[in-house]
Amino acid sequence: MQDILIKNGLIVTAEKSFNADLLISSGKIKRFGDSLDCPGSIEIDATGKYLMPGGIDAHTHLNLHIGDNKVSDGFYEGSVAAAFGGTTCVVEHPSFGPDNCSLMHQVDAYKEEGGRNSVVDFGIHGVFQHVDANILDECATLLKAGVSSAKVYMTYSGRLHDLQILSVLQRAKEIGLLTTYHAENNDIIDFLSSRLSKKQAKDPYSHSLTRPACSEVEAIFRLISMSEALGGVPIYIVHLSTAAGLLVIESARDRGLEVYAEVCPQHLLLTDSCYQESDNKGLQYIMAPPPRKKEDIDALWQGLARGTIDVVATDHCSFNFSAKLAKGKDDFRLAPGGIPGVETRLPLLFSEGVLKKKISLSRFVEVVSTAPAKLMGLFPQKGHLAPGADADVIVFDPNLKNEKILTPKNLRQNADYSPYEGMSVRGWPTTTIIRGQLVVHEGQLLVEKGWGQYVNRRQAVKNSTVTGD
Ligand SMILES: [Zn+2]
Repeated sequence: MQDILIKNGLIVTAEKSFNADLLISSGKIKRFGDSLDCPGSIEIDATGKYLMPGGIDAHTHLNLHIGDNKVSDGFYEGSVAAAFGGTTCVVEHPSFGPDNCSLMHQVDAYKEEGGRNSVVDFGIHGVFQHVDANILDECATLLKAGVSSAKVYMTYSGRLHDLQILSVLQRAKEIGLLTTYHAENNDIIDFLSSRLSKKQAKDPYSHSLTRPACSEVEAIFRLISMSEALGGVPIYIVHLSTAAGLLVIESARDRGLEVYAEVCPQHLLLTDSCYQESDNKGLQYIMAPPPRKKEDIDALWQGLARGTIDVVATDHCSFNFSAKLAKGKDDFRLAPGGIPGVETRLPLLFSEGVLKKKISLSRFVEVVSTAPAKLMGLFPQKGHLAPGADADVIVFDPNLKNEKILTPKNLRQNADYSPYEGMSVRGWPTTTIIRGQLVVHEGQLLVEKGWGQYVNRRQAVKNSTVTGD
């Protein structure tokens, strides 16, 4: 593999920024330095650009199937979109497998599918769909297979009940598995959605009314209480969407509990008014939890800046608008839930966060790469620019002269809409390198499907905000 020398860029890490050249050799970061020279290498001029560790998206569903609903992309197209958006590694949440299957069943299936198709590196979360002695035993096998995190749903038909969650937490504590939670109160949601009139079911705005903020807040509080009852077990809450939920998390953290939180761009940028868009476009935003109010958005940005929210991931789950319309036109409850986003995470967060001075440049790198690397057990091999680390590097151009207007036509992700349609972003990755290989450069994809490798993840490293500048 040819060496790569990136010259004249600004190196940005979660701690600091500095001007240096960066040399990549044999898939690893070899060194930084002034005026480095390496005859025979591929040379990239990064004048005016940033060099950052590749993005790590800790929450994707590139390959989701639920019943007869299947996402529009799959591991190949989804990972290509990720690479074009500067994400070099994803951690995929698998769908549920057959009833009563083992924990490894879905991990094995996704490992195989991702290995054949992904162009970015990938890890896989476990998923609990039932709990018994065998499943609890098998948690140790998961860890050995490089799966150091596993998901629990507190809502949907595959949800766990409190007794089951307690046994999972106890086991997780014993062996050091990080459990992640979709925290919503299932009964509140079921009760409210079962009472809708025909007219209400036709109106996508009802979706937000049937999943009120309190349904998330209650589930987060209950979950934290269960962790606390066991003397404190690290937990990771996916797609936090509410200001009140953040308060509960912050209060737990103040008591010394290890509670990590992830937020997604949709909850930082959209409000529930999206459900009122004309021509049934409100259906595009059917996802759970729904976007909330302006006050929630403001609080989530503040939590992200303060460090009480650790990670920005996407929950990328690319159902087409046409598919949502076909099923949900007369009843939004039948529309498949989920939105595309893996490609736009970095540009959106840079434009809306860094350029609007809500977060610093180093904090940006921390929340899109370094912190997820720590919590997902990928650090310091990934999520970090340092000699010896995997050369997962992006060249990020913060000053694209022409702002890019987000629309499906200028995105690689295979979706017939973008939830951020019409928004303009400034700043886009121009080169994506994974383990020393140019994967995207000058607008071209340079690898075949299957370049991405399954990553054996270690136990989570405790995360705390490192940045200040
Ligand atoms: Zn998800």
